[in-house]
Amino acid sequence: MSYGTSLWADGVVHTPRPPLPGDADVDVVIVGAGYTGLWTAWHILRLAPNTRVMLLEAEHVGFGASGRNGGWAMAELAHDYGDDMHTALVRNVDDIEAAVADQGLDCDFARSGELMMARNAGQERRLKAGLGPEDIWLDADEARARINATDIRGAVHVPHTAVVHPAKLAQEVARVVEAAGGVIHEGTRVTEIDEGRVTTEHGTVRCEQVVIATEAYTVDLPGHERSLIPLYSLMVATEPLSDEQWDDIGLAGRELFADARFRIIYGQRTADGRLAFGGRSADYRFRSAISTEAENDPTNSNLASTVLFELFPQLEGTRITHRWGGVLGVPRNWKPAVSIDPARRIHRAGGYVGDGVAATHLAGRTLAHAITGIDDECLRLPWVRPWSRNWPVEPFRYTGYRLGAEFFLAADRLEFRGLPGSRLSSFVWNVLRR
Ligand SMILES: Cc1cc2nc3c(=O)[nH]c(=O)nc-3n(C[C@H](O)[C@H](O)[C@H](O)COP(=O)(O)OP(=O)(O)OC[C@H]3O[C@@H](n4cnc5c(N)ncnc54)[C@H](O)[C@@H]3O)c2cc1C
Repeated sequence: MSYGTSLWADGVVHTPRPPLPGDADVDVVIVGAGYTGLWTAWHILRLAPNTRVMLLEAEHVGFGASGRNGGWAMAELAHDYGDDMHTALVRNVDDIEAAVADQGLDCDFARSGELMMARNAGQERRLKAGLGPEDIWLDADEARARINATDIRGAVHVPHTAVVHPAKLAQEVARVVEAAGGVIHEGTRVTEIDEGRVTTEHGTVRCEQVVIATEAYTVDLPGHERSLIPLYSLMVATEPLSDEQWDDIGLAGRELFADARFRIIYGQRTADGRLAFGGRSADYRFRSAISTEAENDPTNSNLASTVLFELFPQLEGTRITHRWGGVLGVPRNWKPAVSIDPARRIHRAGGYVGDGVAATHLAGRTLAHAITGIDDECLRLPWVRPWSRNWPVEPFRYTGYRLGAEFFLAADRLEFRGLPGSRLSSFVWNVLRR
């Protein structure tokens, strides 16, 4: 079994890129080569092909959440910014599909849709109350015909959502960025960001504009320590399942799946016939430390495999071949944002709270329009706004988050026992976002 290496990393061949060779002068520096940085570069080069764009990446392309996630490309954000934003996010998944086709991005993309299951009365009530205009409610029999999981009372079919192989998507966008003239330096950690100047371990780069695309890792940049907190999400993958197992489980269209518990879980049927399944961890490390130990914590990833086997007891005897984890970024107000600063020419996008696979594309497009000065309606979307205020200092941050997380777990336990949990959780949710 592979501990700490994701299933996705096993599926890509990574050719290292050289670090920054010394001081340089370009038009735009992008810090971080995850989806946010890569899509931003790609859109700048699409809109203004002569722009000199340089990406500086501390580790390698797709090292962060972009190379390790659940592969749900959704038309949803952690915060509901209203109808215009929803329309833009739906169109955004279409735009990703078009980019995959036009640029030949080999990333196992499929417009699979998503099945959000109700597995207790509380989940059913909440899902039915939150149905979007395009969502389809499936009753228990209809839902079970698509996904044969335990305790199904019904499911929402969300048609927009698409499934991807996360690491392949990152590698492929990097490939088209370089083909369009962008330069990527790996193994190059940025230590300081100022107006028109980015300092690294290997030299200083002067530039017109800077984009900070470092998501959870932003907490390690001077001056940004409290602008996000890093939270962990942990995943497991099974060995490839047999045709008989798939006939029993369903997911014939590779539909993404979850149930509506508060502690978020998520799964996909991979292109090579495995189940990749994960869950948000309740873990938060004091002073926002990002720890490999926490990413690979067997107690946490065991929770993911326990829930997977609860959903599908027919998996008994199936081997778990990979366990891994990663960090996602959460701003104080839990609202993802694209923050444009024309005065300092230092821009930033992120705080996706674990919903960034598709949203990063729209963020990148928006940053590219701001940077090139080519007007577009995306610049007027409600998430284009100043960054949230900071999280409190420790120990308040640690205590507040851990208490909140425990309340959400308790709310799930109540709902699975047939008791109302949502009142407790919405109270805690409102307190957490204060
Ligand atoms: C396990 C897991 C599962 C998830 N599942 C889903 C999902 O199914 N659907 C969904 O929508 N979202 C999911 N997410 C969230 C999603 O993956 C992220 O929102 C998204 O990938 C963020 O992309 P990003 O480019 O902003 O950040 P990242 O991918 O984290 O990239 C940031 C990059 O910046 C680099 N960096 C950091 N500091 C520096 C520095 N000082 N100098 C240079 N480089 C630096 C890092 O090495 C990293 O490569 C998941 C996240 C995790 C961890």
